[in-house]
Amino acid sequence: MKLYDGIISDTEALLAQYEPRIFPYDRDRIWKDRGVSELILLRDAAFELGGRGHTSVGYLCATTAPLFDRDEVYVYGPDLPEITGDTDFAKIVYLVTDDLREDSDSEAAFRTIRNMNFVRYHVFPAGYMARVSSESNEEQVRVSKKVVRAGIRFSYVGATYIRKYRELPEVKHVRVIFITEPSLVAALRPNASKVDDITKTLTHILDGLPTDCGHCSMKAVCDEVEGMRELHLGKKK
Ligand code: SF4
Repeated sequence: MKLYDGIISDTEALLAQYEPRIFPYDRDRIWKDRGVSELILLRDAAFELGGRGHTSVGYLCATTAPLFDRDEVYVYGPDLPEITGDTDFAKIVYLVTDDLREDSDSEAAFRTIRNMNFVRYHVFPAGYMARVSSESNEEQVRVSKKVVRAGIRFSYVGATYIRKYRELPEVKHVRVIFITEPSLVAALRPNASKVDDITKTLTHILDGLPTDCGHCSMKAVCDEVEGMRELHLGKKK
């Protein structure tokens, strides 16, 4: 699958200007998943990531390219124990997947891509209340004072997400990237918009958009995103 490869390249070019802290996935350090959403009241919050007027960005890119060969968490900027107040925030997820064969079985490929995107709504780390907007590709998080005192870290929360993504049979490896460096978060926003364009185009195709490129409002996306046109024309076949 190449749909997101251009966005991954653009993201990597931005990230290359900063030094991350890298944490291999540790099954012994997975932060508890409550299984259901949790309400954290303002008075119980230590701080918000990407909330209350701060910039927030959240997007997922899947690829069949062998970008990396293990599960890992990257942190750019202060980690949760180092944050003292509300801050800008981005969470990006890269998935290395099996070949989804979207040119021969697009319906199955669509389902898989949709399932990958659904994971972000079904992880509920304790004391870490995420509000995810699929419309704007934003992700805001309220972190409770209690879990900050208990030593929550991005590497533990990232492990909770990795475990969930790895339940999907097509997913081979996961990288969860947390960013609290404000200049970097702002620079990533255009990439989130491009992911949004891909998601909307996929949805239109799945809804039965006619394969008439000459009169299609999605043409700009298909001209830019490698693999999108093949995906739609493959669906027609
Ligand atoms: S392949 Fe053509 S018809 Fe299909 S979404 Fe892209 S531009 Fe539109």
